[in-house]
Amino acid sequence: MTIPETADPRAHSRPADSRPETGPADAPGRTPDAFTPESARKDVPILHRTVNGHPLVWLDNAATTQKPRQVIEAVAGYYGTANSNIHRGAHTMAREATDLYEAGRAAVADFLGAASPDSIVFVRGTTEAVNLVAQSWGRGRLGPGDDILVPALEHHSNIVPWQLIAKETRARVVPVPLLADGRIDQDAYAGLLSSRTRLVALGQASNVLGTVPPVREMTALAHRYGARVLVDGAQAVAHLPVDVTALDADFYAFSGHKLYAPTGIGALYVKPGVLGELRPWQGGGNMIDSVSFERTTFAPAPHLLEAGTGHIAGVAGLLAALNWFTSFDLAAVAAYEEALTAYARKAMGNVPGLEILGPEARRIAVLTFTMAGRDPADIASWLDRDGIAIRAGHHCAQPALAHYGLAAAARASFALYNTPEEVDRLVTSLLELDRSA
Ligand code: PLP
Repeated sequence: MTIPETADPRAHSRPADSRPETGPADAPGRTPDAFTPESARKDVPILHRTVNGHPLVWLDNAATTQKPRQVIEAVAGYYGTANSNIHRGAHTMAREATDLYEAGRAAVADFLGAASPDSIVFVRGTTEAVNLVAQSWGRGRLGPGDDILVPALEHHSNIVPWQLIAKETRARVVPVPLLADGRIDQDAYAGLLSSRTRLVALGQASNVLGTVPPVREMTALAHRYGARVLVDGAQAVAHLPVDVTALDADFYAFSGHKLYAPTGIGALYVKPGVLGELRPWQGGGNMIDSVSFERTTFAPAPHLLEAGTGHIAGVAGLLAALNWFTSFDLAAVAAYEEALTAYARKAMGNVPGLEILGPEARRIAVLTFTMAGRDPADIASWLDRDGIAIRAGHHCAQPALAHYGLAAAARASFALYNTPEEVDRLVTSLLELDRSA
């Protein structure tokens, strides 16, 4: 069974003629009535600084996004006027902080398409969410001979937690191979699924290739074998519409900082019917009902999984980020980013020796590339001198890079506030690098 990557039904359904064309005549950002990056840029103060004497061009959005002032003010405002611990205080500010925290949970549930805020567990980010599932679900559910399927494309944070728990439980982590062009080999995936498969851990969008696997179909197939599916949404949330209910994901993880929110806050969605399979993974305050040395009883999920004081200011920032992000027409944002990425892809094609990794297939705003004879770290340093920030290295996805015979590559990744002019500056600087000794 082969599923084309472009067949992901979670793709925005928008009329073809609403997509801005690319190219100099009507480069992205110039289409009347469409989303304009300036409407986002004006809110993001850091984009107006200079680096090495040049206006900053931030093309490291897949690593982290820059923050709108609404988020910065929400965090500062929380500490300036509302700071209190939550869930256990009889005073006004404790109630206000609790309301804010729970409003954040409800907003995340809404954003992800979850039926109930009780399905949302606050975590530090995607990495902690995956570790939580590995420990809290995996420890009780995995045993010798069980398989955890993980595509070779995954970020280390969706590989290593499975290796750790597999070692403890004597389960196996089975890599799902890639086709030559970097897409997940769907025939191999179908062949690897079996009654031994307990879990499939799968990214909704690749941080290396930007590709968007057919997650819904892959999830449905895994469910036929009774396996649970964890979807790593770290790269998807800022670029694709997310609906965990339509995806039918058992677990869905994301990091706030890749979605214009602060670092240190993220969320794990757990499907209602699966919540009961999670055991406490950390003990402490907040997660108990009553404690005695004879017998301790626990609070219901999601509190069961949130031991200790959470990142309350982070939730305030995440709530502000969701409000900011969803104030835009997200279909128009996605269309804009798609056009900008196509524009960048075409323009980067003019740089001699530059090769973009991955298939032509639909992708989010991530372009990972190599330049013949150039070390990716040198490319990043060269661009940095011109105020342009890209990432170079293994992108925490060494197996994915190894698929291309690479240990490192350069990556430009875009967000809604990037402009065609910034792409032009990137390409101009790369052309100068090519002409340099
Ligand atoms: N998964 C993917 C696909 C990522 O791109 C990243 C970060 O780059 C992560 C997981 C880990 O996210 P965090 O470091 O915020 O936990």
